[in-house]
Amino acid sequence: MSFFNSFGRSMTRAPRPPKRSTTPTSSSFPSTESLPGTPTMPAAPKPLYLCSPFVEAALVKGNFKHIVMLPKYADVMEWVAANIFDFYQNLNLFYGALSECCTQQSCPTMSAGPSLNYTWINQDRKSVQLPAPTYIDYVMTWVQDLLDDDNVFPTKSGREFPQTFPSTVKHVYRQLLRVFAHLYYVHYPQILHLRSEPHFNSLFAHFLAFGKEYELLDIKDVKGQPNSPVGIGALWDRWKEMGILEA
Ligand SMILES: [Zn+2]
Repeated sequence: MSFFNSFGRSMTRAPRPPKRSTTPTSSSFPSTESLPGTPTMPAAPKPLYLCSPFVEAALVKGNFKHIVMLPKYADVMEWVAANIFDFYQNLNLFYGALSECCTQQSCPTMSAGPSLNYTWINQDRKSVQLPAPTYIDYVMTWVQDLLDDDNVFPTKSGREFPQTFPSTVKHVYRQLLRVFAHLYYVHYPQILHLRSEPHFNSLFAHFLAFGKEYELLDIKDVKGQPNSPVGIGALWDRWKEMGILEA
């Protein structure tokens, strides 16, 4: 039984989860709050992942265009499959390192923006809120099962990729994007605490560049709706301005 049909595209607006208590690390990072005495800005403070120097932190300098290009003589399906495997493995390692911070209590919803909580379509086709760790577990298990299924991701030589492969990988991409979106939106302070921001930023920029090059990403999934934007939508724009991603 695949989870394939269990994923919903819908995003619903829901009350914000209770604000997380301050993480032990948050005081060691530059504050983005206004200075005492200055008028309070109505807008929320700029997220740390959009602030210098974190937004520039990367393992790879420059544009990702060359990294994502199809190597000579490589089959495009094989290339997409191999890259998705790598993105999944790397994201899973990060999630493993962050999982003790992402609990039912800290993350009662799969939040990814000030008014955005991803919902899950359950067996009864109902859109339901799930705690983020449950949601992410479902995604990661589903992707792992697909990667292990030789009918979906063939590994033996001479085996053809199924006709459904392009739509399957788009589905995978959308769900992995949601995991990135939650980790950036909620857990970036912990990523900074682990000093992993150069690695995490490079992984995500690579993921975005690859998704754009092979049309695996839907821009509206990156940016969200005007009334419920995805936090990382602004990062996508910022990296385009900086030349990290293609304009
Ligand atoms: Zn979380």
